[in-house]
Amino acid sequence: MPSPLAIGLVAHDDKKAALVAWAEAHQAFLKDKALFATGTTGGRILQALPKLNLTRLKSGPLGGDQQLGAMIAEGRLDVLIFFVDPLSPQPHDVDVKALIRMATLADIPFACNPATADLIVSSAS
Ligand code: PGA
Repeated sequence: MPSPLAIGLVAHDDKKAALVAWAEAHQAFLKDKALFATGTTGGRILQALPKLNLTRLKSGPLGGDQQLGAMIAEGRLDVLIFFVDPLSPQPHDVDVKALIRMATLADIPFACNPATADLIVSSAS
């Protein structure tokens, strides 16, 4: 049996509610996927959708973004959904850039806003 699609989920603080709403709207798609999220983002998603197969990594500023980047480098992440906040400075901006760089380098589907994430779901369904 093929392994399920592995999807990384991250949202900056002001975008966490939007990612939870997106996950709720797409729970039928997400339910049989292997989900990996940074710590706080994952906690918020699991509060709303406790039955998802979601592994919580470290919080983003404490290394969670780098863990996702390492998964991409190792070929263990198929898709990245990362709702970024373009209006707030991020103390771990270097990690954010590194994660985006790895997703670009590995040429995996990568959405940084809900409209693009919706397109990924429609093309993968
Ligand atoms: P968090 O990390 O889910 O632990 O808040 C996200 C981020 O990288 O800002």
